[in-house]
Amino acid sequence: MRKLSKVVGFLEEDGEYSKQSLLKRYSHDIDEEENRPKLDIIREIIEQNDWDIAPRSNINGRNKAEVTLMILYEYSTGLERLTGGKISYKDVLKKLSLYMGKFRYGDWREEDSDCIYDNAPVTSDEFKKKHKDKFGAQAVTIEREGEPFKKALVLYDINEFGINNGINLRDINEIRHTMFHELTHIMEISKSLEMDEEYFETDDQNDLGVKRRFRNSKKESDGVYFVGVSTAEFDDLADKYHGGRIMHNQITEGFVENIARKLLENVGDKVKDTDRYFHAVKISQDIMDVYGEQDTIYSFVTDSSSIIRELEDDGKEEHDFLHMASDRIMDATFNGVIPNKSPKTKIVEELVTRIISACRADKDLTYKDKSNREFFDRRVVSKEDFNDFIDVMLKKPYSKKKVLNQKDKKELDGLFDEYNRVLHDENEFFFDEEKGFKAMLAARLRKRNYDNTAYSMTDLAKGALKVMTKNAIHSSKIDQIRQGIQGKDHIPEDEVLDGK
Ligand SMILES: [Zn+2]
Repeated sequence: MRKLSKVVGFLEEDGEYSKQSLLKRYSHDIDEEENRPKLDIIREIIEQNDWDIAPRSNINGRNKAEVTLMILYEYSTGLERLTGGKISYKDVLKKLSLYMGKFRYGDWREEDSDCIYDNAPVTSDEFKKKHKDKFGAQAVTIEREGEPFKKALVLYDINEFGINNGINLRDINEIRHTMFHELTHIMEISKSLEMDEEYFETDDQNDLGVKRRFRNSKKESDGVYFVGVSTAEFDDLADKYHGGRIMHNQITEGFVENIARKLLENVGDKVKDTDRYFHAVKISQDIMDVYGEQDTIYSFVTDSSSIIRELEDDGKEEHDFLHMASDRIMDATFNGVIPNKSPKTKIVEELVTRIISACRADKDLTYKDKSNREFFDRRVVSKEDFNDFIDVMLKKPYSKKKVLNQKDKKELDGLFDEYNRVLHDENEFFFDEEKGFKAMLAARLRKRNYDNTAYSMTDLAKGALKVMTKNAIHSSKIDQIRQGIQGKDHIPEDEVLDGK
């Protein structure tokens, strides 16, 4: 428990935004039930948690504004607005209190050795050596014997960690964007009381009949926890390199980032980097457009696994929409390990083989030949690596007509045509209103409604808040929230998605 400092000054000027004047403005927003400012209620919640109040850097000896208070006000009331009031700002804060065990600005503290990433405490040298310079912010699991599932969130300070690491904690836009994103990673946690075998990971992968299946969850003594719309895939090739598992987390990143951007716009702030997660955000918006934006956001922040269940193959469909979209995003962005099924990877591999064989007489290419072969054997492709590959392996030797005989040239031309066709197909998938992902999804929803087997995302997520609040410490507050859930208009009982 930590006392909050008073709002007595500016952390610094942020151009048109001043934290103190914003807090003053927000203090006029009154909670009608309790007849007092929402800020007072949020401040109490912050005091009950192990959450930092503001970045530690103290500019020119001036006192800090309550940055966390400001961000949490904007975040919780923003989500209430984005869901059309289906989730209240208090429910948002309740869920954050339940799952965000710690929040730090700048860096971890000594006492945070119970925060674990990649099997190492975040305070250990092992962690610092391996991971610390990779993140702007991080949400990691807190491991304490017998304690419920909780995460810890940190925003690393760029001024401490150098130019490529961390975020600028003197820039409110960066703090907002990062916090709105990371807090949504906390909100995406969903819990199931069902101990259904197929829903959690097992060491014995051979026992599972279907390899490509949703299995990204954590079994705890009190239930099974899911982390957003992410999936794990088991694959023979992945066996060799990644312990048998390929993580598909791009759809969930798309949702998290898309929601963060909408929240930024909601407070009149700008999204500076729209390239980040571009395809993933596009897909999440497609899903929102088909199922309804408010409903989908509500489902994501109350029971994200309901979106997985909705998009997964239910046995009747030709497509498993979740894996299909996930593969396409990874294929388009080269983010992570490109799966076996990727059409672009296949054609690029074929191109590499052909060019290597066509150019093997060229001594200049010996080195690149070798490194590119290894690079595709690993199947881990960064965008930079790929561009380098295109430049060196495709354009340069291809222009050297002398190394290509007529047969090779014809084959290569054919492969280039094929590659362009795959690029065109990719473009269609993301952007074509008639043939793209969104159209396929809408067609399936229409068919489901026609088959009378339709269920809405809101239906699926309906019970989630009840499950979530079962863990709450004070039973009186549970009752309060339950009344909220059962209250009129809170969750529309008969809400049906039209899917048109
Ligand atoms: Zn993220």
